[in-house]
Amino acid sequence: MPIKRARETKPAAPVLAGNGKNLVHCALSETNPWEGALSQLDTVAKRINLDPGIHKYLRTPKRILMVSIPVQMDNGSVEIFEGYRVQHNLARGPAKGGIRYHPGVTLDEVKALAFWMTMKCAVMGLPYGGAKGGVRVDPKKLSLKELERLTRRFTAEISIIIGPNKDIPAPDVYTNSQTMAWIMDTYSMGVGHSEPGVVTGKPIEIGGSLGRNEATGRGVVYVIEQAYKELGWNLRGATAAIQGFGNAGSICAKLLSTLGVKIVAVSDSKGGVYADGGLDVARLNTLKAEGASVANYKGPGVTQITNEELLESQCDILVPAALENQITGENASKIKAKLIAEAANGPTTPEADRILHDKKIILLPDILANAGGVTVSYFEWVQDIQSYFWKEEDINNRLRELMIKAFQAVHKISTTENVDMRLAADILAVQRVAQAIKLRGIYP
Ligand code: GLU
Repeated sequence: MPIKRARETKPAAPVLAGNGKNLVHCALSETNPWEGALSQLDTVAKRINLDPGIHKYLRTPKRILMVSIPVQMDNGSVEIFEGYRVQHNLARGPAKGGIRYHPGVTLDEVKALAFWMTMKCAVMGLPYGGAKGGVRVDPKKLSLKELERLTRRFTAEISIIIGPNKDIPAPDVYTNSQTMAWIMDTYSMGVGHSEPGVVTGKPIEIGGSLGRNEATGRGVVYVIEQAYKELGWNLRGATAAIQGFGNAGSICAKLLSTLGVKIVAVSDSKGGVYADGGLDVARLNTLKAEGASVANYKGPGVTQITNEELLESQCDILVPAALENQITGENASKIKAKLIAEAANGPTTPEADRILHDKKIILLPDILANAGGVTVSYFEWVQDIQSYFWKEEDINNRLRELMIKAFQAVHKISTTENVDMRLAADILAVQRVAQAIKLRGIYP
């Protein structure tokens, strides 16, 4: 049945935005992602009458490793950085999740990100639990050699809990395929043989997968396409604003524009630009490749905007593709987009969620929308284990298949339970993880 927007018609028929009846209003911290994640879990637990023991189980990460990382800097001095690896839950398989380098990294942030990985892998039906790693560092201030030493020492410190059958890191904010190559090499040196399956998002030459670099952005675009199809809307000619021009944001911009979507606003950590007539994505990529900010993009009708203004700009599709807590109780009511696809993890606070929900804005939640990255990570891991590598076309087709399957599973719950897509995805994820915990039982 085609889906209508509740803003336009009375929500008698199921809508992607739900009808608001089942949303628990949460009043909590707008800034601590772990509190936000717990409130999200509590909401689902209440909604599905989750077994209290399993609820407690999921409120606590299984394993937290905090390390200090001494790094010899190029000038001979020694700096100490703090790093974390959090494994949230392993009921469905080995832990999986990226490693981020950012000056704002905190343990609570990494705990939230690990929880979201548990949820994301469950929504996608991947045989993984969830983990995340982070180092509190501004990587832009380190030389390449310093970054390599930091990465190798961090890997050595967490090597006691990672491994191809235990916990498999991947890229995240400000880490990339080169970082993964150093992790793979350091771990391999420790075990005495090459172990490509210890990490995903590696360069192709050492066991990486075709299509992995584009996978997050590609997955976001697949779910946007699917949502537009369900809603009976036309993607061609739609406008999009994208916050963040890293891997996910830039690929999203590129792929959306090839589908005829006009990219009207983009930003990065330095600021952004808006143009009614649309921005040239190739030129934006050239700027980034030259080390400049997208804010330096010039042209007729182009105005400079801040990151906050980007979120409130006139567009059909808003893609937050940067960090957590961007759409908050402060700015949610000013958002003009009719659909939000969360390419970032946790960009919307629970308070903002409630406001967007009331405004009947359709939100494709992070644990579904940005799951393309970990899905192709899974393909990479399978290829590494089998030492048999697939064609890019097969990878993209299988990615599309899994993204659509997950979208439909979430959408079905959204329809039958009359809840929005976030709560539907959370319900699906928690039910799957709870089932795994129940089947395995509590040791001993
Ligand atoms: N960092 C990505 C995410 O948040 C990818 C994780 C992975 O591939 O394991 O989903």
